[in-house]
Amino acid sequence: MTRPRLMIPGPIEFTDEVLDAMSQPTPGHVDPTFIPIFGQALRDLRSVFQAGEAYQPFILAGSGTLAMDSAVANLVEPGDRVLVLDTGYFSQRMADICRRYGGEVDVLSVAPGDTVTAAQLQARLDQASYRLVTITHVDTSTGVLTDVPDLTAAAKAAGSLVVVDGVCAAAGEEMWQEDWDVDIYLTASQKAVGVPPGLALLVASPAALAKWRERKAPVASYYSDWGLWLPVMQAYEGGRPAYFATPAVNLVMALGVSLRQILAEGMDRVFARHRLVGDAFQAGIASLGLGQVPTHRSHAAHTLSCPRYPQNVDATSLLPRVRAAGAILAGGLHPAIRNEYFRIGHMGAITRSDVLSTLGAVEAGLRGAGYAVEPGVALAAAQAVMEAAAD
Ligand SMILES: *Cc1c(COP(=O)(O)O)cnc(C)c1O
Repeated sequence: MTRPRLMIPGPIEFTDEVLDAMSQPTPGHVDPTFIPIFGQALRDLRSVFQAGEAYQPFILAGSGTLAMDSAVANLVEPGDRVLVLDTGYFSQRMADICRRYGGEVDVLSVAPGDTVTAAQLQARLDQASYRLVTITHVDTSTGVLTDVPDLTAAAKAAGSLVVVDGVCAAAGEEMWQEDWDVDIYLTASQKAVGVPPGLALLVASPAALAKWRERKAPVASYYSDWGLWLPVMQAYEGGRPAYFATPAVNLVMALGVSLRQILAEGMDRVFARHRLVGDAFQAGIASLGLGQVPTHRSHAAHTLSCPRYPQNVDATSLLPRVRAAGAILAGGLHPAIRNEYFRIGHMGAITRSDVLSTLGAVEAGLRGAGYAVEPGVALAAAQAVMEAAAD
């Protein structure tokens, strides 16, 4: 029996090689065969984020939320002022985490579907100085892509550290951590990085590490404390084992395989492929007469799409039918518009046939739900985008 494809914004479909690594006999975490795998995964994570040697990668057992927790627990001290650029659901989570560690949080919010501009950020920076500015690279609840280099430049010029939640963007959307001067870039294994859920991934800049070293207050989270993890990461990268808490051995082996696959394709090609797939989905959805949550194409993500339901169609009438036609999609997530849209994840090892089969399933689901669409309209629109790029 063929299973439907998992086309949600994480977890995604994984490559056969990654799944093979998951099913290998588990070596001990200090086994001589495992040490170089962990060390190489750390180096490769740096390469995927396009950060230099002075940047410190961390690979932790946990989800993306742990990566957020680790960044904030180590960089925010009680009383530190933090500005959260709020484009949706996960920005609010970042604000909550900053408050939990004693940060004095200001939130710059925009309407769902809008992005934050550098001018809006500058207006806030002119009024107050912030220890930390947080940005969500792709907001998974709205499909909004923020302009990380522009926003980061404004925040850094004002003397802030910049934390970017790249959970729905890393290894999909263009990212140059060092060139763009991003202090923390973070993600989770199950999104575009292409490994089953269970790893929190982050890379810290020299400035972030310096801020952490100057802390007066101890890090309030035991498990997130870089003081306990740094010697472990440095040891494995140096070819020696170390122990603080047992790494997720099979997940790290699978991560090693996936990062190699991403780097073998090449970051420029990975970004271009995601742009093309994103554009193909945009065209397909538009051809069906559906609106989308991002208010302008120029800030629509390439890793997921957020189409609006047509009249008289909702999650209950559409999503089970799309699933029966071969693709599992996600419902809305942003609390203010949750029932108005659905989400299609299209990141990682996605192929052209995934694009076409998913759009075909959406078409079939819409027809079943009573919305008249001519068979093949979205496929033709997506094909046109992909063929134009193939020349
Ligand atoms: C998925 C996601 C998270 C949370 O990751 P978990 O692995 O579910 O903890 C955080 N931020 C963004 C942008 C995400 O897409």
